[in-house]
Formats: sequence, structure tokens, C-alpha cells
Amino acid sequence: MNASLQKKYLAAFVEVIRKTSSELPKDVADAIHVGRSKEAPGSRAEYALGIIEKNIELGKLKSQPLCQDTGTNLFYVHYPRKLDPEILTKVIKKAVIEATKKGYLRQNSVDSITGKNSGTNVGPGSPVIHLEAWNKDFMDMRLMLKGGGCENVGAQYSLPDTKLGAGRDLNGARKCILDAIVQAQGKGCGPGILGICIGGDRGTGYAVSKEQFLRKLTDKNSNPALAKLEEEVTAQANQLGIGPMGFGGGTTLLGAKIGVVNRVPASFFVSISYMCWAFRRQGASITAKGEIKKWFY
Ligand code: SF4
Repeated sequence: MNASLQKKYLAAFVEVIRKTSSELPKDVADAIHVGRSKEAPGSRAEYALGIIEKNIELGKLKSQPLCQDTGTNLFYVHYPRKLDPEILTKVIKKAVIEATKKGYLRQNSVDSITGKNSGTNVGPGSPVIHLEAWNKDFMDMRLMLKGGGCENVGAQYSLPDTKLGAGRDLNGARKCILDAIVQAQGKGCGPGILGICIGGDRGTGYAVSKEQFLRKLTDKNSNPALAKLEEEVTAQANQLGIGPMGFGGGTTLLGAKIGVVNRVPASFFVSISYMCWAFRRQGASITAKGEIKKWFY
């Protein structure tokens, strides 16, 4: 990748970050709108969702972060084989530094021991970059900004769980999911969205649970049993009366997305990542010339 192409990719990546940070994807904004329309007029839930909708409008209008916590930056990139992954990683990090300078990202990455802020969002493990080469001639870049408040209420369960009465089956998974929602109430800036993984080891379980957030809220799981469970837990969660920000009401969860990966016979993990209403994910296809061709969400 020559210097001029690197410059073009850099500009495209900064634009992906700007849009991700300031504009909520349409599927999420639509779900918030639908939730608000179902709440009782004048209720605290309706009011909270109204404020959230105003934030969404403002963020888009002013190209400013939707929330002061611009979160962990998670990049998921498929790139043409001919590109050098080391250079690509360098350009992505440069884009994060530039986006931070421009205010699209807040200075949000600190040394875990000293608490010192790099001021650039770049440091060990930051940003998180998943790279995968493919045989196509364009790049597929997706970005998720995952806030700390909602990350804190993620949970992992090892089944069987006698306290929950949860066995090693889909019904056991359902009990874990509902427990995680109850534990998160009033925290994590709901209404939330859950990314769930059944199976895997502890590490891959959480990684796969986060990948579920790349799916649109409106999509349908290709596995009929999981599709049913996704719908059922969302409906059950919305009957718990927790509501947006824990203020009560029927909009507790905007959706749940479940993935499954193999496990070893001795383990059965259910890993749950919680995303707040500020569900910032965006993605674009980027041509071999470094130009954004299409937005995905
Ligand atoms: S949980 Fe989400 S909405 Fe709440 S402060 Fe963090 S990023 Fe912002």
C-alpha cells in the first residue's frame, strides 16, 4: 500500500469512526421509536425514551458523540489478501488517533495499572482489531463502540447452575439470560440489547457474544430454535417492568441475538454481552482505491 493509498484509507476509516460515534444505526433508532410509542404518554419511560431520541437527533446533526463514553473500539475487518495486515493495523490506529483529535472519540483509554490516559485511545489492546483476509477486492470494515457501563453488566454462566435451576439445554440458557437482565436492571443504560453465545470456552464465548451485535435487530436467526428463543426472551424481558434506565415500563430490551459454537463435553457456558441504548455500530465497504462505497446499517 503506497503512501497516497494509505492516506485515502485513513480518511475513509476516520469517516467510519465519525459516523459510528455520532449516528445510531436505523434499526436501533427505529426500535427505540417503537418502544417509546408503546409507553404510556407522560410516563417516566416515555420521557426517558424521548430524551434518548433527542440525543440521537443532536448527535447526528452536530457530528458529535452520542455519549461521552465512546467506549472500547472494536473493529471487524475483512480485507483483500494483497493488503499488508501490518500496514493496515497501523492505518487503523492512525485513524483512531485522528478521530480522537477531531473529537469523534473521547480520550478514553487508560493504562490498567497506573490509570494514565494515553490521550489517543491507542495502547496495548486498544483499539481491538479483528482482521481477516479474503479473496474479494474490497474491504468490509465494521466498527462497534462499546461503552463501559453496559460492558460492566455482561455476565457469564457455567451450566448447570443449581441456584438458577438451569440445566445444560436451551431452557437453562433462557434462565441465565433472564437472570442477567434482572441483575442489570437500573444499570447499563437500558433499554438494552443482548448478544449471547451458547458454548465455546470462556474467551470465545464472550467474543462470539459481541459478534452478535453486528447483526441487525430486524434480522432472523437462521436456526429456528434460536430464533424462537431470541423472540421469547425479548418478550419476557419486556414484561418484567424494568423499562428504560430502570424507570419502569415495557421497553427493557430492544432485542436479543444468540450465536452458538461447539464446546467441550465438560463445559457449558452461556456468555452474555449487554449493549446500552447508545448502540453504536456501523460498517462500510471500501474499494481498492480507499473510497467508501456503501454503508451497511
Ligand atoms: S452505558 Fe452506554 S449510554 Fe451509558 S454511559 Fe456508557 S456508553 Fe453511554
